[in-house]
Amino acid sequence: MDLVALPAFADNYIWMLHDGAQAVVVDPGDAAPVMAALDRLQLRLSAILVTHHHPDHVGGLQALRERLEGVVHGPAREAIPAPFAPRRGGERIEVLGLTFEVIDVPGHTAGHIAYAQCDAAAEPLLFCGDTLFCAGCGRLFEGTPAQMLASLERLAALPPDTRVCAAHEYTLSNLRFAAAVEPANEAIAAHTAHCRALRDAGQATLPSTIALEREINPFLRCREPAVIAAALDEGAAGPEPVAVLAGLREWKNRFR
Ligand code: ZN
Ligand code: FE
Repeated sequence: MDLVALPAFADNYIWMLHDGAQAVVVDPGDAAPVMAALDRLQLRLSAILVTHHHPDHVGGLQALRERLEGVVHGPAREAIPAPFAPRRGGERIEVLGLTFEVIDVPGHTAGHIAYAQCDAAAEPLLFCGDTLFCAGCGRLFEGTPAQMLASLERLAALPPDTRVCAAHEYTLSNLRFAAAVEPANEAIAAHTAHCRALRDAGQATLPSTIALEREINPFLRCREPAVIAAALDEGAAGPEPVAVLAGLREWKNRFR
């Protein structure tokens, strides 16, 4: 299986997984880069996975239907362009011969879902939309800090070698915030240098891994003393993980 990040808009990635003949794409906000990749690699489009309803994740759906030979899988609790197969947490779907588990991850939107590929025979893979980013998390447009904390902790519990396919190239700005939260965290400094080199070479900083995110992502580190202390300094309402996550999210929203 090949995993390709198709750049779209200013900083989106449309993830494409293919076996050389058939492809699945995730969150096609724009059809054009997907069509171009299908043509260039001579692939048939077997399925589309959608994580949430925002236009930069569903805008290309209708135009891709003429190429689609299978099903659009989407969040059961959100309104995305019909028709689609409504998916909820706990369901399993077969795509390209792989099994993906659907995980409910409310927070960024109320019905946001993620897709985790966890066949023992394959390398684990996570499509998490705008919930988990490298070194960051999505804004809380529709959900609560408690929901986002539970969603992120659910994803953090996936196998450490899970490749994290997030939908935006926000890594360097997220890492700048992460360094402000934990100035002494050497993994953040090392990953910043690594990602600067990737961006200078015009490459994606993704996928990340769950193991790396647990080391560098402040939103997955709400129980770390250094993170708790920094969040309290910046106005978090208390030291408990939900208050720390809420404080971090508000701090990030005003961070420049
Ligand atoms: Zn979004
Ligand atoms: Fe987005």
